[in-house]
Parts: sequence; C-alpha cells; structure tokens
Amino acid sequence: MKSLISQSEVYLETIDAYKKAGHAIAHFNISNLDQARAIVEVAEELKQPVIIGASEGERAYMGVEMVRKIVDELNQEYSIAIFLNADHTYSLEKVQEVIEAGYDSVIVDGAKLPYEENVALVKTCVDYVRLYEQKTGKRVLVEAELGYIGQSSSLNAALPEGVSEANLTTADQAKDFVLRTGIDMFAPAIGNVHGMLIDAVEPALHIDRLKEITAAVDVPLVLHGASGNTDEDLKGSIDNGIAIIHINTEIRKAFRDGEKEYMDAHPNEVAPYKFGKEGQEEMKKVVKAKMLLYAL
Ligand SMILES: [Zn+2]
Repeated sequence: MKSLISQSEVYLETIDAYKKAGHAIAHFNISNLDQARAIVEVAEELKQPVIIGASEGERAYMGVEMVRKIVDELNQEYSIAIFLNADHTYSLEKVQEVIEAGYDSVIVDGAKLPYEENVALVKTCVDYVRLYEQKTGKRVLVEAELGYIGQSSSLNAALPEGVSEANLTTADQAKDFVLRTGIDMFAPAIGNVHGMLIDAVEPALHIDRLKEITAAVDVPLVLHGASGNTDEDLKGSIDNGIAIIHINTEIRKAFRDGEKEYMDAHPNEVAPYKFGKEGQEEMKKVVKAKMLLYAL
C-alpha cells in the first residue's frame, strides 16, 4: 500500500525526472469513474505515472471530495503513481476548497484578466498554499497560465475569441510572471488552444517561442489544450521544455463516440456498464497513443 503523503512529495521530483529524460507526464481530465479507470488501466499497463485533472465544472459534477476519494482508492488498487490536479480554478475561494480536500496541485487561472490582476490573483493563491504547507507539512504544487488560449474542452467551429498570435506569451513576460508569483509550474500560450476545431486543423505550435520561454524560466512548463495538435508538434514541445501535457477534448470525444456507437447498434440496451465499457475502450486507445508518444 502506498503512502498518500509521500505521494504528494514525489510529484515535483517525478516531473523533474521526466523532463530531464526528455519525456512528458500525461494529464487527462475526468468527468466520471469510467474515465478515471480507463486512464489508470492504461497507465498501469505502460507502467507510467499519470496526472488526473478535474476542472471546476468536472468537480462540481462529481463532488470535490469524491474526486479525491476516487483517486485515493485508485492509488491503493494500482501500483503506478496517480496525482490529482485541480484544473482551471478561477478564485481564491475555489483554490481553498481543493487544498482543504487534499488535491496534489492546483491551476490558478487568471489568464483572461489584465496582467497585473492575473499576477495579484496567483500571488494571493500561492501565499495561501504556502501557509497551508507550513501548517500541515503537505506540499501542494501551484500552476498558473499566461496568455489566453480559450476556456472550454469542446468541439468548436472557430478559434475562441481572444486567441491570437498577438496574445502568445513572451519570454520576458514569462520570466516576470514566474518570479513575481512564485509558482511551481507555468502554462504558456504558444499557439495551443483549449478545445478542438470541428472541421479544421489546429494551429501549429510556436516551438521557437517555447524555446525562448524555456530559456527564461526555471519551473517546469505545462502544455494545455493539446487535443488536436499533431504528434510532431507534441514531440517538438517535449523536446523543447514541456514536462506535462493536458488532453481533455480528444478523450471526451472518444468516450462519447464509443458509447454512441454501442447505443446506435443496441437501441434497447439500458445497462450503463455496457455502453460505458465501449466508451472506455475507445478512450483507452487515445490515452495509450498519447502516453506512448510522450515517453518516446
Ligand atoms: Zn487547460
């Protein structure tokens, strides 16, 4: 049986080890237990650690504490390390909620705010988390994002409003932001976009910009909105400093497609474990392909 306290302590060490090895850790979001199990079964098969993420909306649906309990239980059942991240969290109040519930990391998202307001929100949250660490001895990682990349893990007809090359993160901004906020991990905008385009190819990642940011900051870098990006772009991002890659829309779509196909073929079937199983199988194919790519 693994100790959950030591689990949180090895989180940053694991990220650093992956980064040094030229690999990235996979971060996948969940909305239910079916998805959680599908992710963990693949991770166990590949003997890779994995980060499970739950956004404010996903946490509200499943229950903030229930998500923690599910991941605790999975950590007892499986041998690999499973970390729990509170994805995109927009206020100090919501940060406090997940810290109290024992999440291993949290993303403070002030990316849509004016720069100084983003810095102020993130700094306030970092101060709160550090105080919590002093009181409890539990290390919690804080991540923040700079440069707007949209907000929904959905299928979109066009790029979200406000996403443009002019809003890519610069190396100077990244350096200032990381220094002033004291964050543990940083999510830049390098052409990545939340969600996926329905009928068009995703914009290419700006690997040259990523290189500049990697040279400017010391903390691990996280790629959000990686659904729909090409394998070549994902590998290029890992080779140039990305240590964690977030995928949500692609696994949501695979899960939905698997269930839908089964339901279409069996219109009178009502057992959730039967169509849920098909959703899991489709989703596992995507999870496996991504994890194999990140560990190449
Ligand atoms: Zn994200």
